[in-house]
Amino acid sequence: MSPHACPCGYLGDSLRECTCAPYQVQRYISRLSGPLLDRIDICIEVPRLPYEEISSSVKPEGSASIKKRVETARGRQRERFCGIDQKNGRPSPSCNTQMRPGEVRRYCKMTKPARKLFESAFKSLR
Ligand SMILES: [Zn+2]
Repeated sequence: MSPHACPCGYLGDSLRECTCAPYQVQRYISRLSGPLLDRIDICIEVPRLPYEEISSSVKPEGSASIKKRVETARGRQRERFCGIDQKNGRPSPSCNTQMRPGEVRRYCKMTKPARKLFESAFKSLR
């Protein structure tokens, strides 16, 4: 997936229409170099925030709390992969991102509703 960007900066904006022609958008994206695009693994569109949300007085979750959640998750991952036999001389994974296909199949089993959703998305979105 390529990044969602255009010269005017409003492509996909909910309040202001993009004034760029499709060829301009294509040219704009093609200007990004291959090595730069290779570094972009995930593209997430972030919609414009309403003013009320930006100026909200609700206190966001603090970094210490987030750090604690991350450490808990990392601990679960270490437990999950503890004791896995080494294959092909490679070290066992220590976190989810290092899982190999066999571990993904073993630990990432989909529930029946998830499988149906996946199948539906696969067929309708290709
Ligand atoms: Zn535009």
